[in-house]
Amino acid sequence: MKEFECKRCGGRIYLAQELERDPLCPSCRGGMVQTGDSKKAKELQKYECFECKMSFYMKEKEKPYKCPFCNYSFPVTPRIKQEERL
Ligand SMILES: [Zn+2]
Ligand SMILES: [Zn+2]
Repeated sequence: MKEFECKRCGGRIYLAQELERDPLCPSCRGGMVQTGDSKKAKELQKYECFECKMSFYMKEKEKPYKCPFCNYSFPVTPRIKQEERL
């Protein structure tokens, strides 16, 4: 899985393949760039967007807010609500 890092907040996602355009940060919608690092799929949690059906990976315990590829918002969990209050 190729690692992408947000230029704004440092958030990371992992993709199985390179895309024609860079993904957007699932937390802050900042532009993401490939870091050159990679991780094994078994270390990561897979997410699939209900809207565009694209899949991506994040570290376990990290949850996406927005789809990196479209404007879909994932259902907000109690944990993320608490983080947003900070
Ligand atoms: Zn970000
Ligand atoms: Zn999507």
